Amino acid sequence: QRILVCAGTGCASSGAHKIIDVLQDEVIRQGLQDSVSIVSTGCHGFCEQGPTLIIEPQQTLYTLVKPEDIPEIVAQDLKEGKRVERLLYTDPLTKSPATTFANANFFAKQVRVVLKNCGFIDPERIEDYVERDGYKGLANALKMSPDEVVEEVKKAGLRGRGGAGFPTGLKWGFCRNSPGDKKYIICNADEGDPGAFMDRGVLEGDPHSVIEGMLIGAFAIGADEGYVYCRAEYPLAIKHMEIAIAQAEAAGYLGENILNSGFNFRLRIRAGAGAFVCGEETALMASIEGRRGMPTVRPPFPAQSGLWGKPTNINNVETWSSVPHILKNGADWYTQYGTEKSKGTKIFALTGKINNTGLVEVPMGTTLRDILFDIGGGIQNGKAFKAVQIGGPSGGCLPDEMLDLEVDYDTLTKAGAMVGSGGLVVMDETTCMVDIARFFLDFSQKESCGKCTPCREGNKRMWDILDRITKGEGKLEDLDTLENLALVIKETSLCGLGQNSPNPVLATLKYFRSEFEAHILEHK
Ligand code: SF4
Repeated sequence: QRILVCAGTGCASSGAHKIIDVLQDEVIRQGLQDSVSIVSTGCHGFCEQGPTLIIEPQQTLYTLVKPEDIPEIVAQDLKEGKRVERLLYTDPLTKSPATTFANANFFAKQVRVVLKNCGFIDPERIEDYVERDGYKGLANALKMSPDEVVEEVKKAGLRGRGGAGFPTGLKWGFCRNSPGDKKYIICNADEGDPGAFMDRGVLEGDPHSVIEGMLIGAFAIGADEGYVYCRAEYPLAIKHMEIAIAQAEAAGYLGENILNSGFNFRLRIRAGAGAFVCGEETALMASIEGRRGMPTVRPPFPAQSGLWGKPTNINNVETWSSVPHILKNGADWYTQYGTEKSKGTKIFALTGKINNTGLVEVPMGTTLRDILFDIGGGIQNGKAFKAVQIGGPSGGCLPDEMLDLEVDYDTLTKAGAMVGSGGLVVMDETTCMVDIARFFLDFSQKESCGKCTPCREGNKRMWDILDRITKGEGKLEDLDTLENLALVIKETSLCGLGQNSPNPVLATLKYFRSEFEAHILEHK
């Protein structure tokens, strides 16, 4: 039997390491050390209910586990095969204990492709990854030509999971076809949106999937060197990546003549210092090179002239981690999930006033209602739903009339939001939408690198107006000024941070204008 204890950052902060210590002692005390193993896993997504543990093969999920629960769990479930009912997951909708975690609403509507291993393997053991078909996608890719690999990724319809959703295969093709012997690939793990922790979950829980995806991409593009650029605020993710890289080198998946194919690839980690703008590709590369992380004008695009002036391809963690599944199972398998123009699955981080905060993975095209109410368990304390902020400070707030929107890149952009990296911050009836607009703009104006005037000055002016309105000092004309400033900033800013920073304000003005007006008129 195995006891899988989530030791990701979320559960670690709610006491998972203490649970592991007590479990180890208790298993010995009850004489089960030869038949039971305790595995520290990454996050399986149910962060709200941590610390959590799963017993295999029974597949019982215990949530909100306390050290004093351990003797009972070991005595009953592990020794006698009986579930400790009072500790099982309680479904927030029905208020009844779910019988197994597979039946719990939180998991039932998810399709876990990228998160398949998170919570079920020890991320510090390459053997666990290989046992669950790890590195099979790489082995398949190495039997194909690089062009065939690019075509397979194009056929799968995978789009970049870090922001705008650019087609991944097309992007790889640009870099592959760029002249030059030396090429680089980069994993953008500089996840900085408020409320987003998808990439952290994958890096902590399944680091080899990222390495395997990068290996496949490097082979397809013709790169022999790569970097994982990870924010320093993710120490566990960095630790697990370091261990995984060392293990992959020792096992012959990284280095020279990988799997006797003649393909060479070396991978390093660079820790970023926490600037949001370093998630922008040109700023990220400047930071890796040791320069100040500021965006530069494009063209040239990274595919033509990137890291140290060489053709470079950058994808984010979730994109890289999706690639092994495509090469292992085929593009046709992957396209069974998703919508016509957005294929596959997407991870979302649920936060805010929602019952089941955590990480979830669903097919593209799943409705917001399914994500927030069926999987997310609805709004805390029986309050009414008001809005959801999608896509972080570059996205927008959508109201309840948009709950039946099928979430994909195109529908969200049309609605005034964006998939972004996948943060969903939920607000209830008590939330002031003007405050929310000010909060996200505050983030953007503080994170602006200051290089170009519209972003540096324009966002500050917008923030001043919003601040006045929240203090009851606004005028109705301010709303037109806000919209005009927003449009100018979007049109004239140099990089994506500035171009998208007014989105939360524009979306709240579009859907919640009456709240802005009420703030102004109340104080007349
Ligand atoms: Fe810097 Fe903002 Fe200009 Fe981007 S848009 S370069 S973050 S000032």
